[in-house]
Amino acid sequence: MDLKSLYQEIILDHNRHPRNYGALEGPSHEAHGHNPLCGDQLHLTLVVDDEGVIQDLRFEGKGCAISTASASMMTEHVKGRPAKDVEALLHEFHEVATGKLDPEEAQLLGKLKIFAGVAEFPTRVKCATLCWHTLKSAVDKGATATTE
Ligand code: ZN
Repeated sequence: MDLKSLYQEIILDHNRHPRNYGALEGPSHEAHGHNPLCGDQLHLTLVVDDEGVIQDLRFEGKGCAISTASASMMTEHVKGRPAKDVEALLHEFHEVATGKLDPEEAQLLGKLKIFAGVAEFPTRVKCATLCWHTLKSAVDKGATATTE
């Protein structure tokens, strides 16, 4: 299957059945994200343990299919990883989603490489990257992320 049809199929699946949807009670970190261009809203709650590992995270909010699928896939991808990896992940995700990095060259993204599919739709890049900016702001102890 080519990257494009894989992209469409995975986006549809995660949009219909978002993983890790909801809010954690007593999160150690949380942040709100907003993409005014599309109207996507996202709230992330995380539990980061004393070793700095993301033990659990959930997202909730209202957004388009791409923002929802991206958040759903992000939660699966970062669970169990050190919070300090978020910056490098965000950077690589952004490079792939904007077409600056060939998805085949991506080292950290696994199946998130399919977001190379948004590179041809520049206005959707912010939908895909919103959750990553929000996660970065949560682990940096900020409160609000915006794509603007
Ligand atoms: Zn959107």
